[in-house]
Amino acid sequence: MIDSQLYERFGLTAPVIGFAQKELEELRPRFDAIDENAEAAQLRVIDAMQQARVDAACFASTNGYGYDDVGRDKLEKVYAHLFGTDDALVRPQITCGTHALSLALHAVLRPGDELISPVGQPYETLKSVIGIKEARNSLAEYGVSYKQIELKDDFSFDYDAIRESITEKTRMMTIQRSKGYQVRPSFSARQIGELIAFIKDIDPSIICMVDNCYGEFVEDVEPSHLGADLTVGSLIKNPGGGLAPLGGYIAGRGDLIEQCAYMLTSPGLGKEVGASLSVLPAFYQGLFLAPTVTASALKGAIFAASVYEDLGFDVLPGKYDERHDIIQAVTLGSAERVIAFCRGIQAGAPVDAYVTPEPWDMPGYDCQVIMAAGAFVSGSSIELSADAPIREPYAVYFQGGLTWPHAKLGIMKSLQQLVDERLVEVHE
Ligand SMILES: *Cc1c(COP(=O)(O)O)cnc(C)c1O
Repeated sequence: MIDSQLYERFGLTAPVIGFAQKELEELRPRFDAIDENAEAAQLRVIDAMQQARVDAACFASTNGYGYDDVGRDKLEKVYAHLFGTDDALVRPQITCGTHALSLALHAVLRPGDELISPVGQPYETLKSVIGIKEARNSLAEYGVSYKQIELKDDFSFDYDAIRESITEKTRMMTIQRSKGYQVRPSFSARQIGELIAFIKDIDPSIICMVDNCYGEFVEDVEPSHLGADLTVGSLIKNPGGGLAPLGGYIAGRGDLIEQCAYMLTSPGLGKEVGASLSVLPAFYQGLFLAPTVTASALKGAIFAASVYEDLGFDVLPGKYDERHDIIQAVTLGSAERVIAFCRGIQAGAPVDAYVTPEPWDMPGYDCQVIMAAGAFVSGSSIELSADAPIREPYAVYFQGGLTWPHAKLGIMKSLQQLVDERLVEVHE
């Protein structure tokens, strides 16, 4: 055990340090299982890099059209191998996860087609993409209709309603793995695989896309191994390993990846253009680190669940629940507690630790939102971060942590802040 004086330097008091230590003793077996999963994932990443014959030439900077960008082409082979797909598109020209999802949807769907979400409402930013929220250039504006099948009360798939919703217009399904900022469990890759098998059994031509954000490397398989035609995510989350400064990926069936490439650059040019400038070393090295970085974030999420569940708060997932993504929700029950939690996370950051987060009127939200992040990459949520809408039930969403010791410090600081403001009592 490390000298607690090191923690005292960060304003942590003996009761908080002692409480955290006791929680951790109980978590050791779970942490061992996470390390084992990370070990297997690390081997898969190394294997994919070896198979693609990654070498120093891959790290060169390119410019202009980017013809013969060897590093870019090999990285896409690495992703395809890792995700078990024909092909992949992994590029800095894909600006973020929302862009990658929007790209895949716009590339595949045609006027008159229908898109169905069989897992309830999609992530907030996709509402404008689909046209659930009115927006120019939404799928709705291009004549693509949309239906949404709610989950059952126990959060399972409503198979009967899904079967009934499918018509000859149904071209594509969008399936979100992570709960995002909703109150529902995240789905395992295997649950998603079962859902896809059910859909394909009804109509094998329906294209199943999985929004894989926050799920990469958490389990021993990805949705792409279990029938997903397109698997999509952000590089400033898990697969970027904290080093990717931007980007998104789409892994999937060859013909569909070609359509995505035509949409991203232009018909005819597709994957042949798109210089990587100088981001490739970060994309490769970030992917290499991603399994252990994701493991650190998972440990942080479980530690937070454990600490706050034992203090009597509602947490989702619970401390003993299986994990399918890196997000941890903690319902703190009051605005003061949510604000204190976020201030504690901020105070433990390597960057911007002197900043005090305040609730603000964020565009697109109908209430104030508070965010804590002291990140090397702006907005990166594989880095330790927390955010919360200031409204009932006063839940904070916590995620990330490039290293486990940093995640641990952040969570201890959140608790210390709550204790200092007399919003929570800790008994050793
Ligand atoms: C983060 C996220 C997105 C969007 O990714 P951005 O990179 O923020 O645009 C989409 N879906 C889910 C489930 C996410 O968690």
